[in-house]
Amino acid sequence: MTTAQSAHTTHMLELKSRYLMPCVYHFYANPMVLERGEGCTVFDSAGKAYLDCYSGVGVSSCGHSNPAIVEAACEQLKTLTHTTTIYLTEPMLRLAEALAAFTPSHLTKSFFCTSGSEANEGALLLAKLATGRNDFIALGRSLHGRTAQTMAATGMAFWRADPEPPDNVHFAPGPVCSDCPLGREFPACQLECADAVEDILAAHPGEVAALIAEPVQGNGGIVVPPPGYFEKVQRMLRAHGVLLIMDEAQTGFCRTGKRFGHEHWDIAPDIMTVCKALANGLPIAAFIATDEVAARYTKPGASTFGGNLVCASAALATLQFMAQEELEHKAQTAAGVLRAELEALAAIYPIIADVRGLGLMLGMALIDEDGEPASATMDKLLEVLKDDGILVGKTGPGRNVVTLMPPLVISDAEIRQLTRSLGAAFEKVCAAHVAPA
Ligand code: PMP
Repeated sequence: MTTAQSAHTTHMLELKSRYLMPCVYHFYANPMVLERGEGCTVFDSAGKAYLDCYSGVGVSSCGHSNPAIVEAACEQLKTLTHTTTIYLTEPMLRLAEALAAFTPSHLTKSFFCTSGSEANEGALLLAKLATGRNDFIALGRSLHGRTAQTMAATGMAFWRADPEPPDNVHFAPGPVCSDCPLGREFPACQLECADAVEDILAAHPGEVAALIAEPVQGNGGIVVPPPGYFEKVQRMLRAHGVLLIMDEAQTGFCRTGKRFGHEHWDIAPDIMTVCKALANGLPIAAFIATDEVAARYTKPGASTFGGNLVCASAALATLQFMAQEELEHKAQTAAGVLRAELEALAAIYPIIADVRGLGLMLGMALIDEDGEPASATMDKLLEVLKDDGILVGKTGPGRNVVTLMPPLVISDAEIRQLTRSLGAAFEKVCAAHVAPA
């Protein structure tokens, strides 16, 4: 049974259609208005509780309203809120120091800004300055932001609103084994998708500054590249003097069971970008580089809100919480339990084509009997889950990948609640085909 829409929600929808740009879309045919959060739960304006298994797209990793982080932000808010980067402030400097310690050891120098788009835009600029080149390579199915250059580097057509983005980005096929753009199969393919990067480099000698990629593609539908892919790509890049930028917007800060997603492979990015979970919900982002690469950015660069005292204080408390609680291990353990449950569901419901992801960044692609993305069923499933008090995400070019990125502090009982509800929801939206014994 769907929940009736309240007068309050109707009024909020009216405000939205009157005063927000139409591009700002929301999940659900019958949406709720979220008001409050605690731990892994958010509450709507009618007081209904939802287990939040998307964390506002992988942001609230330490749980909503995490007391230590809230306290750090509130104390700073009461003391001094804003100065901008033209003055020295301790929280920003301490955060830069803490980030250098938290990230792989060769990444040491940070530039703070406020969003993932801005961090990626800055990283691309830094790559230009460091190499004296103007072009970039990005991957099919990627998403890197909403600014001109980051949208140009975004492979997902869904997120490319600009009809004429800058034309200095060359796309290599995404390393998507579940739906290989080259029609090949791993490992027989011998990573042909990586060879395509070499082809681009050979066709544009001395022109490419950097390749930008997500360690695990989030919006692309939770795409984990095959083993050896990034190692092979980085070898090629190095041979051509091209930098590697890892966009850790979704994969950063313990989400995948390691502190950063790229640490699953034997690679060393020259620049890494972070945002989302850095301050557990306050807007702060950064691009972080090696000393050598950072040294080339000497012309003035300022960001009004970059390294803002309140956000930096919250980020420091977030990093402390993550280290104290060893969230990367918690994510790994919880993921083991959740993944086994999802695989059990996939064995019952043939609409679930696969279960994929790393750590607590998991996806299940829903495919119709005719082999097409089951996006209509996906929307029904999302609505049924929401009515049952569970929030999940949807990603992928076919908008058909159930996406789970709960707070990393999710308990076993909450995982059971999620999987029970998922089971009931699949039962409701599909004709259940029980696999033969
Ligand atoms: N990179 C990735 C991988 C993302 O998922 C996103 C946002 N979903 C961005 C960049 C852009 O971040 P923002 O919305 O903070 O600009």
